[in-house]
Amino acid sequence: LVFLGIESSCDDTAAAVVRDAPGGAEILSSVVEGQVALHAPFGGVVPEIAARAHAERIDHCIEAALAEAGLGLDALDGIAVTAGPGLIGGVLSGVMCAKGLAAATGLPLVGVNHLAGHALTPRLTDGLTYPYLMLLVSGGHCQFLTVSGPEDFTRLGGSIDDAPGEAFDKVAKLLGLPQPGGPAVEAEAMTGDPRRFALPRPLLDRPGCDLSFSGLKTAVLRARDGLLAAQGGLFRQDRADLCAGFQAAVTDVLAEKTRRALDLSAVPALAVAGGVAANSTIRAALERVCAERGVRFTAPPLRLCTDNAAMIAYAGIARFRADGRDGMDLSARPRWPLDSRSPALIGSGK
Ligand code: ATP
Ligand code: FE
Repeated sequence: LVFLGIESSCDDTAAAVVRDAPGGAEILSSVVEGQVALHAPFGGVVPEIAARAHAERIDHCIEAALAEAGLGLDALDGIAVTAGPGLIGGVLSGVMCAKGLAAATGLPLVGVNHLAGHALTPRLTDGLTYPYLMLLVSGGHCQFLTVSGPEDFTRLGGSIDDAPGEAFDKVAKLLGLPQPGGPAVEAEAMTGDPRRFALPRPLLDRPGCDLSFSGLKTAVLRARDGLLAAQGGLFRQDRADLCAGFQAAVTDVLAEKTRRALDLSAVPALAVAGGVAANSTIRAALERVCAERGVRFTAPPLRLCTDNAAMIAYAGIARFRADGRDGMDLSARPRWPLDSRSPALIGSGK
């Protein structure tokens, strides 16, 4: 089966072509057009600007993805599109475009949950088999999911406030470091002493897999203000020590909650996805936890664990094989929890 995938739920417009054959799936093309420069002056993604940019770029993305794959629409077996969760204007651009293509070609239309796209990616990249534990850690998401089938997800826990990437970004801002904050904080932390500031490990004292990062960010703010009051400014070493302390706290929390999630789910593999998985300290800690538990560790390459359309095409094929398909009444959903057994997800989806 060959599917076109379309993704436009946040600030990346993307299209991709994926072929799924008995030997495994293959990405024939994956085009991502980001909007970082458009939103940069506003210090965050502006929904109206994003919606307009998606509408402007989406046709070009699709043409480029088909051209790169060397295929025409007639070679496709279906069209998969992110139908949520996300910024509604952007999701609508993708859904309308996919409906138009499906109507014009008669191809099946499959609406995909963006989070299912992320959650199924390790099957595409590492050939993981069900069930496995998924830790999504990005700028917008933070949750543990047991993945047992293309539409079978159990949410074990997640952030009750900020996502970890968001916390990295806010801490960077507090310390006058550039955005995105993750790489900047990681670089500073290299020369810092993680023990100089006693920062909290939120929710470790409570059972379960829920996490919290906003109090940690506030603790960094207090420590910074303490230094400012005492010495009138921040020295290089202060900044490095604060970054190292913050990163160590996030790492400890993620490692311990992962331990608990592995114990709860009792699966043979862990997959980590999202921009924060690029952090080498966090990654090494998670690898150690997996080694302790005798569990396989995987992390898809960054370009496939940040937003892209290959994961949407792949998840679309998986849903289609399980008899999932949609009609012209497919609607865009700003909120769409993956695990319908859990209450509306807090701290996930922007
Ligand atoms: P989503 O795709 O879930 O809607 P997003 O687009 O913000 O959200 P990603 O692109 O997956 O998420 O990741 C970006 C986030 O990852 C940013 O918050 C960034 O600071 C963080 N990040 C990137 N590199 C690192 C790093 N080395 N250490 C920590 N955080 C990092
Ligand atoms: Fe995403």
